[in-house]
Amino acid sequence: MSSVPAAVPMVDLRQQYHDLKPDIDNSLADVLEQTQFILGSNVQAFEAECANYIGVKHAIGCANGTDALHLALLALHIGPGDEVITTPFTFIATAEAIAYVGATPVFVDINPDTYNLSVDGINAAITSRTKAIMPVHIFGMPCDMTPILALAKKHQLHIVEDCAQSFGATSNHQQTGSIGTIGCFSFFPSKNLGAFGDGGMVTTQDDGLAEKLKMYRAHGSKERYIHSVIGYNSRLDEMQAAILRQKLPHIERFNAERRRVAAHYNELLSDLPIQLPLLQAPSSETPSVPAFHQYTFLTDHREAIQAALSAEHIASAVYYPIPLHKQVAIQNEMTSTPACPVSEQHSARCMSLPIYPELPNETIERIASVVRRAIPND
Ligand SMILES: *Cc1c(COP(=O)(O)O)cnc(C)c1O
Repeated sequence: MSSVPAAVPMVDLRQQYHDLKPDIDNSLADVLEQTQFILGSNVQAFEAECANYIGVKHAIGCANGTDALHLALLALHIGPGDEVITTPFTFIATAEAIAYVGATPVFVDINPDTYNLSVDGINAAITSRTKAIMPVHIFGMPCDMTPILALAKKHQLHIVEDCAQSFGATSNHQQTGSIGTIGCFSFFPSKNLGAFGDGGMVTTQDDGLAEKLKMYRAHGSKERYIHSVIGYNSRLDEMQAAILRQKLPHIERFNAERRRVAAHYNELLSDLPIQLPLLQAPSSETPSVPAFHQYTFLTDHREAIQAALSAEHIASAVYYPIPLHKQVAIQNEMTSTPACPVSEQHSARCMSLPIYPELPNETIERIASVVRRAIPND
């Protein structure tokens, strides 16, 4: 009798829950018993623990990562007529937040190796209307923040870091989310630090911005029933905060395991005609430690590889098949057509393999051998 190997998902959340089950279950039972369901003690404690981990003065929980980006732009008073420079090689939420406040997204092409915003591209795109740069630490690879900070300083621009995929990654020994003006995090279940539902966080060193962020997330009020601006209902849920507090102490280990997975894939696939992801930033960039939210490589054989994996019940994905400047929804928000050939080529050639902290080496080896067999040797 031959045993059929188990199906491999992109991310397995059940194993992590089982590993932490007693702690998570107890913390949830406590919340149910205390019945302080909105902005209770767990949200407060998690905000303090997160601020401490990220290395910022303020961490403000909110409903999700998209809201975190939206709240950041609101707090910075970015609106109609303002331009925000960002990358087209990201999830749509990055540009949606810019559209929510009525500002104009200006897309700049990416570095072919890191998949992150090109610094030269940012420099060339700055105009008198530019108000902020929104770097996305895509797939958990930190952007080269030193030259971005220098550009922001020179032109008096805000930096809103999209850290949805980079919780725990560092650039120049600083956590992503502590480097720019405001950092924005997502706790979507599959993110590196994942809740059991939606959740988000905004981080900043600035007391005034923290005050505004807190107001905007709770109906524009600092004091109950006194409203000075139109705000939103965008709070981090108490139960999610309780779960996240149990996971946060393990994030360094989770991310180290993700780097193990990525390094093992790279080792096994290194001789194939594919462009592997960098395990760290190029030496010309700010030294960094990536968090490997995704393991993404470039190939001319995407269809064949995905078909072969699928036949073996191994998941794979394309992040992202269409760069944002080619998305109809976003094109309506643009005032000019950017040239982003690298993003377009990468969208046509990128694919991602399963990655999560608990992925065993044997499974990585099995996946790599299927990838190997799918690539025609010519
Ligand atoms: C997940 C993600 C977001 C949005 O986070 P949500 O919590 O799903 O709203 C924003 N930007 C990037 C790059 C993301 O990956």
